[in-house]
Amino acid sequence: IDKTVVLAAEKITARFGGIVALKDVDLAVRRGSVLGLIGPNGAGKTTLVNVLSGLIQPTSGRIRFDGVHRSWTLGKAARSGVARTFQASTVFREFSVVENVSIGGLNSKRPVDPHQILDRVDLGGRAHEVAGSLSFGELRRLGVAIALSTAPKVILLDEPGAGLTGHDLTMLANLIRGIRDDGTGVVLVDHNMRFLMNTVDSVVVLEGGMVIAEGSPEEIQRDQRVLAAYLGSH
Ligand code: ATP
Repeated sequence: IDKTVVLAAEKITARFGGIVALKDVDLAVRRGSVLGLIGPNGAGKTTLVNVLSGLIQPTSGRIRFDGVHRSWTLGKAARSGVARTFQASTVFREFSVVENVSIGGLNSKRPVDPHQILDRVDLGGRAHEVAGSLSFGELRRLGVAIALSTAPKVILLDEPGAGLTGHDLTMLANLIRGIRDDGTGVVLVDHNMRFLMNTVDSVVVLEGGMVIAEGSPEEIQRDQRVLAAYLGSH
């Protein structure tokens, strides 16, 4: 067993009725590394994140966490230290920024000082304002802060960059790299290729529910199968 791998999907197949969303997918999330998950619309990215977070049960295949095969539900994944952010922001807009982070850490075995987390996401100065007053980019960083409130070993980020530009994207990329540098395993799904390729250490490409390529961002960007998958989808 590779000890650098914290969370692994092994031969995961997920069917919805007649649709095969994932077929025999293997994926390894490493400590202190950002894994980018890309693929055309409908490739199975969100389904894979849902399986890794325990939100849905695969039709077949297994999840290994810290080297051990585990039955994997949302609760077990969360207690083991797998945190996730969702495409839509999940903050309580009428509560303060710091309250949102405190609520996020309530059920954690390893609660973290909420003010320390807010400093990390550059929201330390906004701690006592209502979350509803934050800008779009700040709300996204608060979403990441809420995920960090449980001191996760793995963090799954589903399109954290959607709708962000310029300074907000740069700050998000720096934040993700900082989380990685602390030893956390990160999975990043995002449609913004430039942002993704600049942020990740390795890339897995899904098409039609199957892994069609994996490698460094440089390798993937010149992979003919990947280029064909993207061109064919438009
Ligand atoms: P996008 O980039 O558009 O978000 P994706 O790569 O995340 O796409 P998924 O959302 O995982 O792809 O979908 C993969 C396939 O599984 C699609 O054909 C989708 O329609 C199907 N699918 C996903 N969830 C369900 C569900 N709950 N019921 C039926 N089909 C589903």
